Amino acid sequence: MMWPLQTFGALLMLGSAQASKGDHSNEYNGCYHICHFNNCSSNMGVAAYESSQSLGEKILLWSCDDECKYYCMWRTTQIFIDKGLDVPQFFGKWPFARMLGMQEPAAVLFSIFNLLAHIVNLRWFRQTVPSSAPLYKIWLLHAVICINAWVWSVVFHARDTPWTERLDYFCAFSMVLFSLFALIIRLSGPRLVFLKELAAVVGVAFFSYHIWYLTKGRFDYGYNMMVNVFVGVLNGFGWLAWAVPRLKTRPYVRWCIFTVVGAMASMLLELGDFPPLFWAVDAHAMWHLATAPLPFLWYRFLESDCLYLLQRKSGPEYKKQI
Ligand SMILES: [Zn+2]
Repeated sequence: MMWPLQTFGALLMLGSAQASKGDHSNEYNGCYHICHFNNCSSNMGVAAYESSQSLGEKILLWSCDDECKYYCMWRTTQIFIDKGLDVPQFFGKWPFARMLGMQEPAAVLFSIFNLLAHIVNLRWFRQTVPSSAPLYKIWLLHAVICINAWVWSVVFHARDTPWTERLDYFCAFSMVLFSLFALIIRLSGPRLVFLKELAAVVGVAFFSYHIWYLTKGRFDYGYNMMVNVFVGVLNGFGWLAWAVPRLKTRPYVRWCIFTVVGAMASMLLELGDFPPLFWAVDAHAMWHLATAPLPFLWYRFLESDCLYLLQRKSGPEYKKQI
C-alpha cells in the first residue's frame, strides 16, 4: 500500500468466508430454504425475481439465491434483536444495509476517497516532480499499483464474492509488497544495482507464489495474515528506521514518519469489532475513512524526496547519498 502498515486492516477482515452465529441459526436456515424453494426453484420464480430487480442489483449480479440470503439475514437479525440477543454476524460479516445494489455502501464510498486521494496526488506529483528525478518511475508505478488496489477495494465492498475478495486481498498485498521494494530501492541509493535487481526478482517470484498458493484451493486466511503482518511490519519499521535518523538534516522526512504513524494509528480502528452504525459504518469502513487523508502526507514526502535527490544528482556526493 501507499504506506507501510495499511495491510493490517486487510488482515482483520479475514473471517469473511467463515461461518458465523447468524448463518448457523435455525432462524436463518429455515428462512433461507423456504425462500429459495418458493422463489428460486422454478424458472417462473426466477423470472419474477429478475423483473423486480433494480438496475444496480442487475449490474452487480445479484441472483435470486443471493436475494434470499440477504432477505433472511435481515429477518434473522430482527428476530435476534426482538429476543434481546446481540446482533449476529453472517458468514463472518455484520449485516449491512444494501444501497443501489452495493453490499457495503460506506466502505465503497471510503474506498473511493482513497482512490481519489491517489489520483489527485499522482497528478500533483507529476506536475511538481520532473521525470528526470531519481525514483520518479518507481513512485509512478507505486501510484498505479495503489490506484488499482483501491479500485478492487471498491469492487469488493460493492459485491463480496470469493473472487472479488481474493482480488481485494491480492491487490492490497501488492501495495505493501511494492512499498517494501521501494524502500529497498531507496536504501540502495544510486549504487547496488545487483541488490535492486535481486529485490525485483524475489518480489515478483514471491507475489506469484502468493497468488498461486491462495488460489489453488481453499483460501488460507492464516497464511495470508501471517505474510501481510510480516511484510507490513518490515515495511513500516523499515521506513521509520530510515526516516527518523534523517529528521534533523532533512525535515521533510517528517511526512514519511507522519504517514507511517498515521497508518499504524488507523489500524487501531480495525481492532474494534462492532455492529455497523446505521447498518453501514463498521470498524473496517472507518479504517478506510481514516486512511484516505494519508496519501496527502505520503506524496508530500515523495515530492520532497525526489526533488532532494534531483538537486544532488549531479553533485560529487550523490553516489553516497541515501
Ligand atoms: Zn476493505
